[in-house]
Amino acid sequence: MRRGPWIIVALAILTPAIAAGSVPAASAASAGGWTWPVVGPIIQTFDPPDTPYGSGHRGVDIAAAVGTTVVAPAGGTVTFAGPVGGYLFLTIDHGGGLSSTYSWLSEKLVRKGDRVLQGQPVASTGWGHPGAPIPHLHLGVKLDGAYVDPLSYLGPISLATFVRLAPFG
Ligand SMILES: [Zn+2]
Repeated sequence: MRRGPWIIVALAILTPAIAAGSVPAASAASAGGWTWPVVGPIIQTFDPPDTPYGSGHRGVDIAAAVGTTVVAPAGGTVTFAGPVGGYLFLTIDHGGGLSSTYSWLSEKLVRKGDRVLQGQPVASTGWGHPGAPIPHLHLGVKLDGAYVDPLSYLGPISLATFVRLAPFG
């Protein structure tokens, strides 16, 4: 089993977190209030497309072993849970024009119309983007119909969590 990439990824994430002191932004009222749907290093950051149909990355990829439980980052209502093109997707409407989508899942634990609470298990992860080298959860967030950076909503993650994730053994 290859372990090198995990350590590199973890360190790449840790370094800026340490530099910034892991202090949540005080200016944005909505920032940092979400629970991480899965806990892991960000292996692909948000890259908004120039046009609605342009190329880019409409969310973030969080590394997670296939079958990892995905929890709702905030309360809301499930507005979609099912297959699209042979892959499983789930969307939660959090109100106020804000929604989150989970892509390439292996299992859904809720169905359309269900109300979910923050931290409630809603799905299990699959591989992630087809052909990606590391399994992950793709998390997309939309505000008033436009994709926004999910990291603006996720709170800081503790150093201890990453140390535990890094398989140095
Ligand atoms: Zn992605």
